[in-house]
Amino acid sequence: MTETGDRVGLACPSCSPGEETVHEVLRPGGQATVRCTDCDHTYKTEIPEEETVGLTVIVSQDGESFSTEMDVPADTYVSTGEEFVVDSPDALMQVRVTGIEVGPEQRVEEADIEDVETLWTRAVDNVTVPVTLHPKDGNADQTRSLRVNVPGDYEFTVGETVEFGDEEFVVEGVQIREDAPEYRHEKLDHDGDFAYAKDCKRVYARDESLTAWSAW
Ligand SMILES: [Zn+2]
Repeated sequence: MTETGDRVGLACPSCSPGEETVHEVLRPGGQATVRCTDCDHTYKTEIPEEETVGLTVIVSQDGESFSTEMDVPADTYVSTGEEFVVDSPDALMQVRVTGIEVGPEQRVEEADIEDVETLWTRAVDNVTVPVTLHPKDGNADQTRSLRVNVPGDYEFTVGETVEFGDEEFVVEGVQIREDAPEYRHEKLDHDGDFAYAKDCKRVYARDESLTAWSAW
């Protein structure tokens, strides 16, 4: 349903009968009151409702996943790697499309939304990134792992020192996820290379935490 203040594209009988202009909805309803923003002509008309389809979306986050239903415009085209906002009673979050199922066992890279049976996604507004830490004295036996929770657009930069609570480490390499678009390499290891947390499969780092390695 359109609401007061919505903007819709309509042909304006006064200034543009052939092409749509932007109209502001002053009063919604079967016969809505609208105002053309080009010529200010105000009149009553029927606003055609946008056609929507129900979509099943699987969202995974931190190794867990849930299914939700949402309505999307019927003329949507979707492809893997794209991001959109899941807005349903169960969730409101930014996700990235990781799989498009159009039939049993049938996955494609892109599709019209009406052909999609299930859309597989993962949350990218907040992500957990595994970090492998090796001690600065080089003893490989003492490698340890931790997981950091950060906003999806947090940047890990090779060569930079980062701190999370008591943890402090220098980023030495980043392994990029398969679903991340537009990185030149699967692994970044040159000073200054950076990746967004949502694109990181794993971060490799040199441990600088004093508490962990103060053996002497
Ligand atoms: Zn007009």
